[in-house]
Amino acid sequence: MDTTHPTPASAGSRIERVETFLLDIPTIRPHRLSMATMQGQTLMIVRIHTADGIVGLGEGTTIAGMAYGAESPEGMKLTIDRYVAPQLVGADANRVQELMARIGKFVRGNHFAKCAIETALLDALGKRAGLPVSELLGGRRRDALPIAWTLASGDTARDIAEAEQMLALRRHNVFKLKIGGRPLATDVAHVAAIKRALGERASVRVDVNMAWSETEAVRGLAALADAGCDLAEQPVASARSLARLVRRFPIAVMADESLQGPQTAFELASAGAADVFAVKIEQSGGLVAAGQVAAIADAAGIELYGGTMLEGAIGTIASAQLFATFANLQWGTELFGPLLLTEEILTEPLRYDAFELRLPTGPGLGIALDEDRVDALRRDRNRVSVAASSH
Ligand SMILES: [Mg+2]
Repeated sequence: MDTTHPTPASAGSRIERVETFLLDIPTIRPHRLSMATMQGQTLMIVRIHTADGIVGLGEGTTIAGMAYGAESPEGMKLTIDRYVAPQLVGADANRVQELMARIGKFVRGNHFAKCAIETALLDALGKRAGLPVSELLGGRRRDALPIAWTLASGDTARDIAEAEQMLALRRHNVFKLKIGGRPLATDVAHVAAIKRALGERASVRVDVNMAWSETEAVRGLAALADAGCDLAEQPVASARSLARLVRRFPIAVMADESLQGPQTAFELASAGAADVFAVKIEQSGGLVAAGQVAAIADAAGIELYGGTMLEGAIGTIASAQLFATFANLQWGTELFGPLLLTEEILTEPLRYDAFELRLPTGPGLGIALDEDRVDALRRDRNRVSVAASSH
């Protein structure tokens, strides 16, 4: 394949313009993680405009600014504006993987920015073909996905009350606790108290976000298994260390941060370094790459979980469109990102009920932005209004 010159576009699917902007949205409560506490989320939105008037939507987010990973929403915008958009304008939007290969030649790494672009191209392709993105990706196997909720207020009693509320609403019965920021004994007591309060009505899991040393993890995993915790996500940073911990205690070990696309998935699988993979579209470098991560897991007998980068509605539905095609999804998903935000940005909100997220049935991603609300949340618009009000 010649990646030097993009395939000339037939009139309709010619890319005319790539637009990016940032939305700042507060969270419903502080979201406390081992590395930082989030008070809000910034969504980097990309819109790819084609000659036939179709607009493809994509999104890039991070967790807690740059505390989690190497990319920032501001950096993604810059990368796309300066280095990606010039490769796209004039090209055929239908040739999604040819375009992604072309971008890969000019831009190394930057998985999150590339995921936003691939999402927008797939949304446009689906809208043009009249098919949901899940059908483009091989075909939908399920119309709803189980959704875990993360308890991360930092306070045990408040977390229990929040879990009880979610159970009563029938919105979530799987809870992930963010630990690793406090002494191990404090964290274990917190998890044990929540599991004791919820009992068999809920699955309780933890995410340590790499905060433990291997010796801490040995003590921590044993204590968490005793407390009735079902799964520990990325207790330590290194893959070798993960491999030494897997199957040592009666608690599943899941890889998240260690998974950075198909190559790392193959390395982790080869090393036997996880019972479960948290598949994330942004971390994988796009929906197609995330599907490859899942295929590697299936081939290796590793179980699957649909992870989140706390995306807003666009990234959440993009993830859902992919996860709905998975043959196996033994641990469900955590696609609750939009529920953590105070503002709705869609004309029709996503449907969360009976512990599941229902997938939209329309073409592409199957969602539409509420332009007035989006306008009000745009960082560049807010800058203008702040400047205007200071005069
Ligand atoms: Mg995680």
